[in-house]
Amino acid sequence: MRRGKQHPIAVLIIILCCTGLITCTSNNIKKQQKNSDIHMTDFPQQHDEAKKLAKTLKGKGISDERVLSAIANIPRHSFIDEQLSAYAYLDRPLPIESGQTISQPFTVAYQTELLQLKPGEKVLEIGTGSGYQAAVLCEMEAEVYSIERYYNLYERAKETLNELGYYPNLFFGDGFEGLPEHAPFDKILITAAPEKVPEKLLQQLRVGGWMVAPVGGKGGQKMTLIRRISENKFKKSEHGDFIFVPMQQGIVE
Ligand code: SAH
Repeated sequence: MRRGKQHPIAVLIIILCCTGLITCTSNNIKKQQKNSDIHMTDFPQQHDEAKKLAKTLKGKGISDERVLSAIANIPRHSFIDEQLSAYAYLDRPLPIESGQTISQPFTVAYQTELLQLKPGEKVLEIGTGSGYQAAVLCEMEAEVYSIERYYNLYERAKETLNELGYYPNLFFGDGFEGLPEHAPFDKILITAAPEKVPEKLLQQLRVGGWMVAPVGGKGGQKMTLIRRISENKFKKSEHGDFIFVPMQQGIVE
């Protein structure tokens, strides 16, 4: 079929789009996540390693295929220091800046599986850290909100996520306060350990909403699932022992 002649203005728009001088999609249209196969094909070797990691997690009992597929499609090495990249696809927690950690992939997968996240659900993460968990939530097509108390981590996570094409709503602040202006949330995921379940966050769950949090002191925490049954009724269950960095009050500029 012969192509018709392009109108000069159409040609100009195409050129500007291609050169990035105008964005073809607005930030709102840019989904919370992008199909990250595109990113992983940029890293063929790491893609193989990420797929292997997903397989390892399956062997350790993770069965939610959407969680496993997210893990297989996220370049975890992008979220850590280059010097540690040899360890990026091992099932291990790793240090990030400010004495914090990127959680062990099994823990990320386990918490995410417990949340039973459905596409389009509005989820609040406490403790953005490296941004890796937020990427998993984006891959699962959630509407993601995430708070970090260290300014440098907040900035760095934003840069990493946006470079990879993920656009969650990131906030620098104290997670104990939550985001009342964006509540209620379908799901809340805490990735640092509070000694007790934070009351303000419970109030930001919608009725029928679920929270997953590692609750306990320095000695270790119980992975806790809390479901809001009604305005004043919450149902709690415990799902194994974990060790997280503590959830701390206040912000660090
Ligand atoms: N989800 C992260 C894991 C980070 S570790 C990831 O995928 O990499 C936990 C994070 O919680 C740390 O970055 C820590 O600074 C943050 N944190 C601890 N207390 C917090 C609070 N009150 N509000 C927000 N973030 C907090």
